[in-house]
Amino acid sequence: MAAPVFNHIAIIGAGLIGASVARAAASFGAAGRITLYDADADVRKRAGALDLGEICNSAADAADGADCVMLCVPVGALGASTKAVAGALKPGAILTDVGSVKAKAHDAMAEHCPDHAHLIPGHPIAGTEKSGPEAGFNSLFQDAWCILTPNSVVQKNYPDKIVELSRFWENLGSKVEIMDAGQHDRVLAITSHLPHLIAYNIVSTAYDMESVDDGQVVKYSAGGFRDFTRIAASDPTMWRDVFLNNREAVLETLGRFSEDLAALQRAIRYGDGDTLFNEFTRARGIRKAILEAGEDSDAVNFGRHTKP
Ligand code: NAP
Repeated sequence: MAAPVFNHIAIIGAGLIGASVARAAASFGAAGRITLYDADADVRKRAGALDLGEICNSAADAADGADCVMLCVPVGALGASTKAVAGALKPGAILTDVGSVKAKAHDAMAEHCPDHAHLIPGHPIAGTEKSGPEAGFNSLFQDAWCILTPNSVVQKNYPDKIVELSRFWENLGSKVEIMDAGQHDRVLAITSHLPHLIAYNIVSTAYDMESVDDGQVVKYSAGGFRDFTRIAASDPTMWRDVFLNNREAVLETLGRFSEDLAALQRAIRYGDGDTLFNEFTRARGIRKAILEAGEDSDAVNFGRHTKP
């Protein structure tokens, strides 16, 4: 096995993503020493039992001497987590995260990140609807994109640090892309955040109807609804923080979505079959393009990896 990219990585937050990073880094030799910290004492205990790495009693202890500190906490906790590790970051250390929103994540971390460390926000586009350390698995990032959003200062002055972090993710099986943080947030608003909002909403509407329809929503859920319930089972804290921190892009996307939905509603009301047929044909073409690009399989799982 090749030499590890990082001699020591610290993972703050030992849930689905933190545990998956720990397992993948150990399996594929991407890191030598792995230290972990989670704010929840019970999670720390469970992560220890799962043998994910050295469990520390504070974020600073975990980050002490690490070449890379990766924050795997909800977006709303990134500022506090950076503050907690700031004093322990060694000169030249990389501070990164895995948060699903990037512009606000950068600002929250930059506020507390010392000048002698290099801030490179990141987002692996991989996940499941599960939470907690038990949900982690080492193949989660295989063939998945990982987007890094370093600011222009890091891009200009410390490109070697971006190369290092990219190599780490590539060792875990990811394909890495460098992107502007605002661009990331606009793209993810339509490809991830809006679909989750729709899933939460459709499940909530069905839940209200369920009391009227006497169990039939659950009984006949295979007709498409079931896949929405899977997405809507995602962690409420994580998704609350995503919508609070990507407000502008989500509202902009939601506005356009609502207009398009109103057009379909109008076509149904007035029996405009041509409009419906043409729109559905266009959508089918997008699905075909995604399959041809190898970004999904035909399995009914919304493209998510499942734990082997
Ligand atoms: P998770 O399974 O709920 O794990 C997060 C862990 O972080 C929890 O154990 C939580 O403890 C802990 N935590 C919260 N605040 C903390 C703090 N200040 N210091 C240390 N630990 C803290 O969530 P996850 O799915 O791994 O998500 C983590 C991050 O990955 C989020 O930013 C999310 O946007 C991003 N992400 C998620 C997915 C996905 O599909 N799940 C995909 C890509 C990226 P408590 O439970 O006590 O709060």
